[in-house]
Amino acid sequence: VTCDLLITGAKGLVQVRESHYGPVAGKAMDELPVMPDAWISVSNGRISGYGPMSGMPSFNAKKKIDAQGRFVFPSFVDSHTHLVFAASREEEFEMKIKGLSYQEIAKRGGGILNSARKLREASEESLIEATLQRAKEIITSGTGAVEIKSGYGLTLESELKMLRVARKVGELSPLTVRTTFLGAHAVPDGMSRPHYVKQLTEEMIPAVGESGLADYIDVFCEEGFFSPEETIAIANRGKEFGMKPRIHANQLARSGGVQAAVACGAVSADHLEQMGDEEIEALKSSDVMPTALPGAAFFLGLPYPPARRMISEGLPLAIASDFNPGSCPTGNMPLMLSLACIAMKLTPAEAFNASTLNTALTLGLEREMGSITRGKLANLIITRPAPSVTHLPYAFGSPMADTVILKGSIVTAS
Ligand SMILES: [Zn+2]
Repeated sequence: VTCDLLITGAKGLVQVRESHYGPVAGKAMDELPVMPDAWISVSNGRISGYGPMSGMPSFNAKKKIDAQGRFVFPSFVDSHTHLVFAASREEEFEMKIKGLSYQEIAKRGGGILNSARKLREASEESLIEATLQRAKEIITSGTGAVEIKSGYGLTLESELKMLRVARKVGELSPLTVRTTFLGAHAVPDGMSRPHYVKQLTEEMIPAVGESGLADYIDVFCEEGFFSPEETIAIANRGKEFGMKPRIHANQLARSGGVQAAVACGAVSADHLEQMGDEEIEALKSSDVMPTALPGAAFFLGLPYPPARRMISEGLPLAIASDFNPGSCPTGNMPLMLSLACIAMKLTPAEAFNASTLNTALTLGLEREMGSITRGKLANLIITRPAPSVTHLPYAFGSPMADTVILKGSIVTAS
């Protein structure tokens, strides 16, 4: 048998599935299939075969890797990031340490509007360079696909600039990139909310739609930002231009964001720190993927989403990083999984399902990645030596990946 790349001697192939393209929900989230002592082959950038070492056929492989008892995972799919930004915001980090709230920092010129000012001044070239650097960083920690939002521009021109940068990063790096128009991230300085909503629905959304630069539309549905009614109107307008909604919901308050996400048929409702019975019931009657962003809850000292309750009610759960300069300045997915296990009481199996199959589904990538399945892209992590799968989220803060392979090519190797 010929192949481009053959990995032998894996302690286990993790998340190996004959076929799996739907959400993993409820009790099934705790099932993580592992094939022990195995090989896996890659041809034309895709997984061409795998099996136990005991029955391995003889291969004519262009390249071979001996995994030496390491585990092989599918790469992570990070379904919520703000990877394009002009400057970090560590001065606000100090304000937070001194006790100021998110809302107070926003009043002192921090927050989203701070990033918006800096973004407008930044050149497209400098943004591409900075974003590629972050792309490299997240690839190193095992991410193979990423959703990138605009939302620091808040003018048509600057929002399009962010989306062009996101698309360019998808071309220049081995990451698979999906883009989201988040013009409704905040109301720009000196403008009334009704005026901005009108501008979004009448000018910005049609122009972004016609540019073809955004796959999705997002709204920050939160007290002091956008109401559920505005969220639904903006999301539905986006749908008219081919952008499916994904909604920032219930981070700071029970804002009605979850119900708005359900009402507009969003692919996901993200954050969910503030949840009650009605929110959970609304999600149960929908196909909206509940998405937790444990890095943001950790960084801001907010309560975590009630993940155990959602899973016990039979819901699926996704985990993403929310990589952004204000509330989660890292896109390290293994760390997000550790936080999910430690703070949200997910089992390691639940955390891996949440950050592979379930996130892939929300980005329409379920036939391309999220599991070790014949025909899917060869997006693989070879871990550092570890005694068990559980050891990886347990050893929080330690790097998980030794070697990352994206689309069949080795992109990082230690
Ligand atoms: Zn976000």
